[in-house]
Amino acid sequence: MKRLYLDYAATTPAHPEVVGAMLSYFTDAFGNPSSIYSYGQEAKGAIEEARVKVASLISARGEEIAFTSGGTEADNFAIKGVAFANENRGNHIITSSIEHHAVIETCKFLEKRGFSITCLPVDEYGLVNPNDVEKAITDKTILISVMHANNEVGTIEPITEIGRIAKEVGIYFHTDAVQTVGHIPVDVNELGIDLLSMSAHKFYGPKGVGALYIRKGTKLIPFMHGGEQERRRRASTENVPAIVGFGKAAELARQEMGEEAERLTCLRDRLINGLLERIDHIRLNGHPVMRLPNNINISVDFVEGESILLNLDLEGICASTGSACSSSSLEPSHVLLAMGLSPEQAHGSLRFSLGKWTAEEEIGRVLEVLPPIVAKLRAMSPLLKSHR
Ligand code: PLP
Repeated sequence: MKRLYLDYAATTPAHPEVVGAMLSYFTDAFGNPSSIYSYGQEAKGAIEEARVKVASLISARGEEIAFTSGGTEADNFAIKGVAFANENRGNHIITSSIEHHAVIETCKFLEKRGFSITCLPVDEYGLVNPNDVEKAITDKTILISVMHANNEVGTIEPITEIGRIAKEVGIYFHTDAVQTVGHIPVDVNELGIDLLSMSAHKFYGPKGVGALYIRKGTKLIPFMHGGEQERRRRASTENVPAIVGFGKAAELARQEMGEEAERLTCLRDRLINGLLERIDHIRLNGHPVMRLPNNINISVDFVEGESILLNLDLEGICASTGSACSSSSLEPSHVLLAMGLSPEQAHGSLRFSLGKWTAEEEIGRVLEVLPPIVAKLRAMSPLLKSHR
């Protein structure tokens, strides 16, 4: 059976050109970038080239990019880095209730160490209200961290407005842009961002590499102590092949993003509308328009998302109930609960995320396969019986 992958928000396959660009850095050009002889300098040159490519994707400068092991590390680096470097100015951090666990858990860690965290609510679409951000600011606030787009429901947040507010009062602004970089335009200057997290495996690069954009002049402490790599901000020998692959993915994204976003938006809307037409008692989660071009998140009443997933898997279709992390836990999604869904509705949620190799007929296949699966599960559902 041909497998159909519709979970691109969890991870993407590396682009063949990305793999091609990486290969020689495992074998021929394997030097340590800190070595002064030619092997080392060759590797160092490749890193610097990749840095410029990654920076260009978000309209930043090369020296403002620090490579990390992924989005999680970038989030940790940004938040802990700013918190500990600016303790003398204040101990208050503002974030939102729909952030990725990498941000939420970092904030909880800081809260246990004396920082005060304000976690802003969202509306039914998952949107943070910029007025709430403004009202939450105190003279102790040192950082605002609100994600660019949510990984579960795809809602794109009003980052420009929040960035403007942060700038007016001189507070650092971090955004987790792991789901947007490489997919929709991101310009750190237009968006007024001081720190931005990204991850290569979300846009056809390798896993285990990401970056933190750090606006020049931002005060933060290094993430790891040791050697002098990454301008003393992140010690450890650089993952040269992965960084090269990240650079290639960034270069390809710059070229292909515009057309690809249009194509995916059409497929996305076809799937959303098709599902709403064919299955009753379902709702679209997330904003209808301000949403990622590749995200479809629905709640199906009277059935468990996990049961649908298992049945889809039997048909060779790979989807998700939300974030890659929460798929393995039985807790309802904190994002959907924050948007006002009941735990039952949250348990009945399903995410399809499309990508480069998603074809028109795959959408047709989901529309053909999902309605009978839902009908079958509902026929056995104690939830439906108790509703009647
Ligand atoms: N932030 C968001 C919004 C994500 O979607 C993810 C991955 O799912 C991460 C952070 C973590 O990124 P990584 O897997 O590179 O650590």
